[in-house]
Amino acid sequence: MRIAEVAMPVPLEKAFDYEVPPALAASVAPGSRVRGPFGPRTLVGFVLSVRDGEPTRELKPLAKAMDPEPLLTAEQMALARWLAVRYCAPIGECVRSLVPPSLRSAMRPVFLPKAGPLPEPPEAPPAGFELTAGQSASFKRLDALLEARRYAAALIHGVPASGKTEVYLRLLRRAARGGGQALFLVPEIALTKPFFAEFSAGMGLPVALWHSGVGAKAKREAWLGLRAGSVRVVVGARSAALLPFKDLRLVVVDEEQDESYKEDDNAPYYHARDVVMERAKTAGALVVLGSATPSLESYSLAVPGGPVELLRMDERVAKGTPPPVVRVLARRGLERDCLSPELLAAVKERLQLREQVILLVNRRGYSNFVMCQGCSWVARCPTCAVAFVHHKGAAADLQDLFAGPAGYSLLCHHCGKDEPVPAVCGRCGKGPLKFSGVGTQKVVEELRSKLPGARVLRMDGDSTAGEKATEAGVWGAFRDGKADILVGTKLVAKGYHFPRVTLVGVVDADTMLSMPDFRAAERTVQMLVQAAGRAGRADKAGLVILQTAQPAHYAIQSVARGDYAGYAREELGLRRDLRYPPAASLARLLFLGKTEKATRAAGEAVAEALRAGSSDPDAVLGPAPGVHSKFEDWWRWHVLVKAADPAKLAEAVAAAKAVPLPSGVRVKVNVDPYDMF
Ligand SMILES: [Zn+2]
Ligand SMILES: [Zn+2]
Ligand SMILES: [Zn+2]
Repeated sequence: MRIAEVAMPVPLEKAFDYEVPPALAASVAPGSRVRGPFGPRTLVGFVLSVRDGEPTRELKPLAKAMDPEPLLTAEQMALARWLAVRYCAPIGECVRSLVPPSLRSAMRPVFLPKAGPLPEPPEAPPAGFELTAGQSASFKRLDALLEARRYAAALIHGVPASGKTEVYLRLLRRAARGGGQALFLVPEIALTKPFFAEFSAGMGLPVALWHSGVGAKAKREAWLGLRAGSVRVVVGARSAALLPFKDLRLVVVDEEQDESYKEDDNAPYYHARDVVMERAKTAGALVVLGSATPSLESYSLAVPGGPVELLRMDERVAKGTPPPVVRVLARRGLERDCLSPELLAAVKERLQLREQVILLVNRRGYSNFVMCQGCSWVARCPTCAVAFVHHKGAAADLQDLFAGPAGYSLLCHHCGKDEPVPAVCGRCGKGPLKFSGVGTQKVVEELRSKLPGARVLRMDGDSTAGEKATEAGVWGAFRDGKADILVGTKLVAKGYHFPRVTLVGVVDADTMLSMPDFRAAERTVQMLVQAAGRAGRADKAGLVILQTAQPAHYAIQSVARGDYAGYAREELGLRRDLRYPPAASLARLLFLGKTEKATRAAGEAVAEALRAGSSDPDAVLGPAPGVHSKFEDWWRWHVLVKAADPAKLAEAVAAAKAVPLPSGVRVKVNVDPYDMF
């Protein structure tokens, strides 16, 4: 009997065997879209493999082959299997993620277009444009790697405004010759448009656009065109990493450190950079990662003799633009004010020159850590090294920041460790201890009283859809000069450039460093370098002022010195000691339930089972409540599992999934997560 192994679109770990009736034998192959009975329903799934053999139990026959040819390529089927293993995700959901809904659920047969004669991109680069030495050297090296037509990966570590885009554009044109295909990834939908426009104009070839906002018809055309090889270049956000290709030769991942490349909402929880590197190996393609602040994941691979080649671009394109100056202001002792006299004086000076200022403050609500005003000690969990969060009660969310020590405790949101609030500092034995960071509201009030007449804009939303639009409005108003000072919580609009901003002040770098997350220092450094890149004009160096109580912290020091390599060395050492990514694999098992009791019980049961079955009980942390301990009516508790290698992690996750959960509680497994809240 011919047997087909079919991935059905259900959140189950396994695929299902079906009998292939002789009438369908010719049209059922790996990658075929098929309809088959599933419980009381019929579902459309994808064939993973076909074999001849005797079934061990009675199999149901497939009802129909949907299309004349397999819709998915062999490479995509291999990718689905890789996704399932790498991210501990159900195979059905992995296959599903590779096909847009309009094709997946099409009732009519899908015909693959036949690629006609392929147009060639023009050879000559646009006239009147000279590359800098850095651009030229990078392009030459990358072009040689591209010409070799086998897998290679390179990381362009370039200062902001070093002109990486021009290098990308020339490479894309080279890659698209002779039927080749190229994928260009950007972290945000908003950034796809300018690149799409630039590449469409400069390429002389049809360029496709891909992100979640593209309409069904355009998606279908792009997907089928790429599958057939007639579409040669695609510009897209994260999900473009899952598109089909006929002859992939180049993938560019711009701003590769950006967390948007990690899918944190829907299974499979993949990272686009990891996906394209895996696919490039199969296709024999070149991967180019670009960043001013490379992720530790990439940077740790870009060592001499390592799997990723490092290319530096240290020169700004606009000749003579001086690099920004970073000044660290040490804050000591108990201070009533958020803004030091030095920072205020610098702001005043810029405003007199009719220039603009950005003041960065941290997000509301997460600033509740404990710091000694005498010696700048921060209360951290001894096991996880992340900052303790100052809480009312053990697991409730922050109630009243200034209510005083009664009823408060310290909580580690990685492992759940719960401690009383200390009366004195854990290092100097004295104090006093301070229990909060700084909010945007307070900074704005201070500016109003100390710089009356200055026009101040405030932006401190979380990144929900409505607030994103508001943020865009605020950034737009600021760019148009409708305000002098922007007080914001983060640099959301990464594509914006503000030519009149010459000063960026970081009001409270300590809050950022003390986020309850093992990536806190990495995020701080990335944010500070980006902020520095935003300050300054063609004729005038920008100034970045960092206010911090921890001026000697390695992250602050490396930003001040412009020494990213030194920072990365230190940080990687810590990650190795504490077994965090990229030095180890990490899984976050997030339990979601309607009652806190059941949710917590689920976390406890799984943590207990994992510790009992492990030779390394220290590798299991928790359960702990999420930083957002309740969200949209769901209680959130998590268990973290560390492992030296992905295979060991997969074993632990499988063991965790085998533990029966209280009814009404579900678990979300996120491998190498970025969302730790
Ligand atoms: Zn102290
Ligand atoms: Zn801990
Ligand atoms: Zn909390």
